Amino acid sequence: MVRRIVILGGGTGGTLLANRLRRAHAETELAITVVDQDDRHLYQPGLLFLPFGLTEVEAIVRPRHRQLHGGIGYRQQPVDHVDVEAGAVHLADGTTLSYDVLVVATGTVLVPEETEGLTGPGWNERVFTFYTLDGAEQLRGALDRFTDGRLVVNVVDLPIKCPVAPREFCFLADWYFRQRGLRDKVRITYVTPLDGAFTKPVASRTLAGLLSEKDIEVVTDFNTGEVDGRGGRLVGYDGREVPFDLAAVIPVHAGASYVGRSTGLGDELDFVPCDEHTLQSHAKPNIFVIGDAAGVPASKAGSVTHFEGEVLVENIGRYLAGAPLDASYDGHANCFIETGFGKALLIDFNYDTEPLPGHFPSTIGLPLLKESRLNHLGKLMFQWFYWHSLLPGRDIPGIGSSMPTAGKRPPAERKA
Ligand SMILES: Cc1cc2nc3c(=O)[nH]c(=O)nc-3n(C[C@H](O)[C@H](O)[C@H](O)COP(=O)(O)OP(=O)(O)OC[C@H]3O[C@@H](n4cnc5c(N)ncnc54)[C@H](O)[C@@H]3O)c2cc1C
Repeated sequence: MVRRIVILGGGTGGTLLANRLRRAHAETELAITVVDQDDRHLYQPGLLFLPFGLTEVEAIVRPRHRQLHGGIGYRQQPVDHVDVEAGAVHLADGTTLSYDVLVVATGTVLVPEETEGLTGPGWNERVFTFYTLDGAEQLRGALDRFTDGRLVVNVVDLPIKCPVAPREFCFLADWYFRQRGLRDKVRITYVTPLDGAFTKPVASRTLAGLLSEKDIEVVTDFNTGEVDGRGGRLVGYDGREVPFDLAAVIPVHAGASYVGRSTGLGDELDFVPCDEHTLQSHAKPNIFVIGDAAGVPASKAGSVTHFEGEVLVENIGRYLAGAPLDASYDGHANCFIETGFGKALLIDFNYDTEPLPGHFPSTIGLPLLKESRLNHLGKLMFQWFYWHSLLPGRDIPGIGSSMPTAGKRPPAERKA
């Protein structure tokens, strides 16, 4: 009997999972259908480079359906809602897809309207976001025209995709204005709701040091209540104000809105709660989650999505075979942090271990929590791996889904 798998979302997670499943199961055994609302697959890490003229749109966008292997069905249609009890997906055109196993891979949506004033006067004139293709392109023009004044980078609230990208934007802005000989005329301020430069102490100290070295001001514990584009002010709920001439704002993120219309599927932010080790949803045993849509305490990152994919292929196979699930996903995340001037840091961590210094993936390898040219080259090469290895569902040699410990130096081993 052919079992039906429906994957909602053909982004990073939906694509790599469909391709891995297709390789693992014959078409006579498993019918796989991917649903997405459009046919434009965006390499999202490229959005960081676009505003600084370091990449072009053509390099980071490809046809979505072409990233799927043969033998995978593709439906281009928005999801309207899921009937969790009946086991059916209702699409916007009124058609229905029934499934034996459903995978939610619809990522996040940005909700700038949630913040007072953000999409009002000044939006896409002096207030931008580089978290969308259109926003990143428009910001490129604004940066080009910017010759002096105050540039503010603001994270409105958490969680966000790639939590390190806003700091990378600050580092690249420092590099960009130095290249143009304008750095002494541009004040760069990073405004965050966190109490430090990162969520975890060791990385937070390293990043705070780098921000200060590069003369980037940091405003912490700032909960943005209003963005006044006309007056050029961020206004905090506590009454503090941060003035700006140009702002790059990372808006509030939520899960896809159809999740909210699907009784029993999501939480109050429309993310899908699931077991953090098996990725099986709390809604129903035959519903699984991958990537940014998952309500787990891991980072919302492509690397996380990739590592989750390895465990999920195994678990879908086990679920269909009636076997116990593999609870081995440990929250592994791995991120290059571009720091400008051809250098980058690398962090590697999981649910239990914070980013530590040392080397990745073993005692010899890329330096962790340390600026290096090698890490920058790794970040650039990642784009090639994304299209040619990660999305097609191939393993990356030497890098598994579980976090490696061999090269890491826990605090006690480091010199005081
Ligand atoms: C600026 C920026 C920089 C980043 N840099 C990095 C990095 O350096 N390293 C890293 O690991 N990660 C990075 N990321 C994060 C990474 O891109 C995401 O975590 C990853 O793409 C998540 O994959 P996903 O499949 O969960 O979601 P997505 O890839 O976003 O896919 C979700 C899909 O669902 C579809 N969808 C949504 N709603 C519906 C609906 N109602 N009906 C039909 N289809 C729907 C969307 O069209 C989309 O194709 C970055 C992200 C940004 C924004």
